Amino acid sequence: FENELTLLTHQQNGNEDEFHEAYEAAVESVKADLGAYHGLRIDGSHVDAADRFEVTSPGDFDLEIGEFAAGGESEVDAAVSAASAAFPEWEHRDIEARTEVFRTAADRMRDRKFELAATLSLENGKNRTEAMADVDEAIDFLRFYSRELERSDGYRFDTGQPTPHQHTTNLLRPYGVFAVVAPFNFPLAILAGMTTGAMVTGNTVVAKPASATPLIAHKFADVLADAGLPDGVFNLVTGGGRELGQPLTEHEDVAGVAFTGSREVGLGIERTFREQGKRGPVIAELGGKNPVIVSDEADLDDAVNGVAMGAFSFSGQKCSATSRVYVYEDVFDEFTERLVEATEQLGIGRGEHLDTVVNPVIDDGALDRYRRITERARTDGTVRTGGSVVDDDLPEGRYVEPTVVTDIPHEHDLAREEHFLPFVTVHPVSGLQEGIAKSNDSEYGLCAGIFSEDDEEVERWFDGVESGMCYANRTQSATTGALVQAQPFGGWKFSGTTGKFAGGYWYLQQFMREQSRTRVE
Ligand code: NAD
Repeated sequence: FENELTLLTHQQNGNEDEFHEAYEAAVESVKADLGAYHGLRIDGSHVDAADRFEVTSPGDFDLEIGEFAAGGESEVDAAVSAASAAFPEWEHRDIEARTEVFRTAADRMRDRKFELAATLSLENGKNRTEAMADVDEAIDFLRFYSRELERSDGYRFDTGQPTPHQHTTNLLRPYGVFAVVAPFNFPLAILAGMTTGAMVTGNTVVAKPASATPLIAHKFADVLADAGLPDGVFNLVTGGGRELGQPLTEHEDVAGVAFTGSREVGLGIERTFREQGKRGPVIAELGGKNPVIVSDEADLDDAVNGVAMGAFSFSGQKCSATSRVYVYEDVFDEFTERLVEATEQLGIGRGEHLDTVVNPVIDDGALDRYRRITERARTDGTVRTGGSVVDDDLPEGRYVEPTVVTDIPHEHDLAREEHFLPFVTVHPVSGLQEGIAKSNDSEYGLCAGIFSEDDEEVERWFDGVESGMCYANRTQSATTGALVQAQPFGGWKFSGTTGKFAGGYWYLQQFMREQSRTRVE
């Protein structure tokens, strides 16, 4: 399986300039098309709703992304009913007929990848590298899940003859209608991954993107329709979490939920689903509070760069972002000083600008959260760099400084809760044992990192750390950046509900239930 890796491919072929030219041209052409109204997508038609909401770019409030229908209960009813009606035919399609649609959709996305990446930069603020990685990952999900379904022959096999004259086929079958609820931070890859997982296995879908990122979801809907997906298999509803997400996930005809987002919302959905007496799956990928250990055996150049990129790329708005760092006492001062220097070099600005690492944060809620936590960091600890909202020399948008904090006790909320912002706390530890104990002292268990040139120390860390994703000496980023198939992605503890990983071999089975069919011959 070959991952897309667009920027890397351009770099390796010595034509990185072409990458930048194509991206910049795409930004201009996407901008020219912004501002339109988009209805809901139900049963292949564009459908209006009583209310509308506007989305503006987080990096430039003068840039209107568009106006979108704000759905509610009645729109959920219509969408779930379209998905229910489409299910029987879709379930019984040959697997090749189903995978053909997603393979074609992946090709269409590949053709449109610069446009899709530019859309992401403008709609959610991602810089060009991160935006293209989001698109590449989405393409990878479509291809990988198609390949997995084919490779497993649709999860169907003969068990042989359990008793004389009887023949049994064992297979996995879809559940029916899945509600798919996606976050703002990987609004294409995660939406595409979850919905493709559900649909390629024969379920039908009603999908709700985050309210900050509906445009990219519409572009994904266009791609699926162009690829020949039958009407009603994928329905797209846009609107608020409570007003729309809640009635959707609680709808009586929804058989399963695939959710990626915060722990609070995901666990709430799971609780209600069970209280309704439903037995289907709630596949929820939740938050993280990702620790990194820096040993005195570390290459400090690697560690500084890995932590800075892990904590601050995409402004820390990743479930996998590095958020607490445990540094051996004898290198604590040197590491922290160098991290501060590196942090101060990072470009803050609009996603589409070439040198941006720290892009705008997504909404006013994030900005308020940033003000609150940096205020607390000033009173309860030491802000070593950052801590302020940026309002100079930038177009009106939500820009904040990447922030490094020390002198915060490990038990403090700032070092325990997920903030989803460019904010990292750095703590001294006596050695590996304390580093692992503190890393594990968390309700989350998504990503973790270590920097150490001592292989035996790294091995002990792998064995001891409670985390789904574990990265040693990852200088590009200490904790972020998993590749489909190569690094299946998911979390332990409250970072996920099923323990099965996206982009991995056990992902698709979650969307299906087992049946044994025995015939007397
Ligand atoms: P969020 O929980 O606020 O929202 C996620 C989605 O849920 C949105 O579409 C939102 O509109 C919807 N929603 C909100 N309230 C709802 C309700 N009551 N019922 C149904 N739906 C509701 O999360 P976010 O801010 O969009 O994304 C950030 C969170 O996502 C972070 O916690 C991050 O760690 C997590 N995340 C996890 C992964 C992973 O793979 N584990 C990946 C990306 C993001």
